[in-house]
Amino acid sequence: MRVKSEEWEAELNEQLRLLINLQNVDKKIQRLVEEKRIIPLKIAEVEKKLKNAEQALEDKKAQYKKKQQEKKEKEILLDDELQRLKKLKSRTSEIKTNKEYQAHMVEIETTEKLIGEAEEKLLTVMEQLEEWTLEINSAEERIVDALKEFQCKKEQLEADDSQMGELLNELKMERQKVTEGIERELYETYNTLLRVRGGLAVVPVEDGSCMGCRLQIPPQVFNDVKKNQDIITCSYCHRFLYWGEGLRPVGT
Ligand SMILES: [Zn+2]
Repeated sequence: MRVKSEEWEAELNEQLRLLINLQNVDKKIQRLVEEKRIIPLKIAEVEKKLKNAEQALEDKKAQYKKKQQEKKEKEILLDDELQRLKKLKSRTSEIKTNKEYQAHMVEIETTEKLIGEAEEKLLTVMEQLEEWTLEINSAEERIVDALKEFQCKKEQLEADDSQMGELLNELKMERQKVTEGIERELYETYNTLLRVRGGLAVVPVEDGSCMGCRLQIPPQVFNDVKKNQDIITCSYCHRFLYWGEGLRPVGT
């Protein structure tokens, strides 16, 4: 059975109507408080991503520096061997005996081989450096973009946060207004329920069950709940009950 929203609201007990209103305001407050609470976490999360990318780049740059040092060492080594070869070759004409000449040629050959190896190693290091230069450049470009994105997101989140703060203040004022009309004892019970029942103190009865704890309401109690004229609580979870099957609660 469904009823029209206006009729339903007109027939509600005034205290019950206020309690339903209060619960709706509190639901909005709870949602907002939770959303607001995680904003600094969201900011920290995007900041961490950026910091990680920056750290990875710094590590790569440090590796690059080491590689450059390696290149220098290899260049010195190659240079030494080249100097040695030059000296050896310049002495060739001074050699007298055949035996000495053979030994000399072997030494030249060995040196040339060492030079070949040193050149190859140097080339590998240079290729590596070239590759890393490209990597570092693109990583730097990505970080510029990531930084812009981070600042943009941070600003957006901070704007959201202050907007939520304003909304929260409005809701608290609205809550105060609703609260003023509620009888003191009911209000205190409501607050206790809100605290011990996970933020839910006023619930509808749907399909004959309390929507707070899902317990089936006894038929006689259900008949009373359906009238929405008395303050009735669930015998199991003690939440305030109202009936409005197929209706959206007031104020949502
Ligand atoms: Zn219940």
